[in-house]
Amino acid sequence: METFFATLVSASLIVTWFGAGEATPDRIALLYPSCDYGPRYEASAASNATTLETAELKPFGRPETGWRIYAAQVGRTIGTACPPDTQRFAGQLAKWQSHNRMRPTGAMDGATLVAMKQAWQGARPFIAAFAEGSCPAPAADRDLSDAKPLEGWQGKQTELDQDALKALRRMIAAARTEDRRIARDKQMLTIVSAYRSPEYDAERCAGGKCNGIAKARCSAHRTGTAIDLYVGAAPGFSPVSSDDKNRLYQTKTPTYRWLVANAARFGFVNYVFEPWHWEWAGNPTKLAAKTGNGAGQGRAR
Ligand SMILES: [Zn+2]
Repeated sequence: METFFATLVSASLIVTWFGAGEATPDRIALLYPSCDYGPRYEASAASNATTLETAELKPFGRPETGWRIYAAQVGRTIGTACPPDTQRFAGQLAKWQSHNRMRPTGAMDGATLVAMKQAWQGARPFIAAFAEGSCPAPAADRDLSDAKPLEGWQGKQTELDQDALKALRRMIAAARTEDRRIARDKQMLTIVSAYRSPEYDAERCAGGKCNGIAKARCSAHRTGTAIDLYVGAAPGFSPVSSDDKNRLYQTKTPTYRWLVANAARFGFVNYVFEPWHWEWAGNPTKLAAKTGNGAGQGRAR
């Protein structure tokens, strides 16, 4: 009986402590003691701990080292909050591999990451519309709304699809309520860029300001439903810099972590290569119906 009460008391202390605090890796490990349970995946967990930092990969076409940038989205996809170097994570990854007709090793590799990227990309209505063979037409003026200056990053004036704006406002209010670290910084989740006309993008890219990747011949931003959100930035970097240092920094912020876990509730999906780029998928038929002019390779940015 004494043991029972001792257990009860320590369990409630843990719950109280966690409820009052922030989800640091230590706290997550404490809440999920089974993250390291499952000796079957010991070797896979060890492999993941190494490849996280060292594997030479190119899931989005550009060579990069390690997959830590994608670890949060991988965790969401395979359904675990355990850290990426744990046995539980490896076990869940093995299940995902099995469901996707791959060898269930539980170890991340180039083929698994590419398959996962395809799943992530497939969730973006913009990509689905694009896959039908044409570039979505730009948003109609009547569908666009101005965001308030306070909603723009550093007061920037932006406009976006009016339904996307409503969904965005609901999402930001929830983020601030649910995570006080997000609420503390009023710049968090402000809009860095939203609707951009094809003409504007053509001019911008001609000036060499397309982030050094490919020219944005058909940017998702023309739809008015793609939004670059401020999720933090590594010191010295733009909030939309695709430098790996900046992307890694961003994927560790509480804001990005919250979005990964919750944005789908509000109809938003991430272009996972860019931690700042989110698309409202709340009304995919609207976007599909808009397919029309333009051609070329789709780029989010
Ligand atoms: Zn973007």
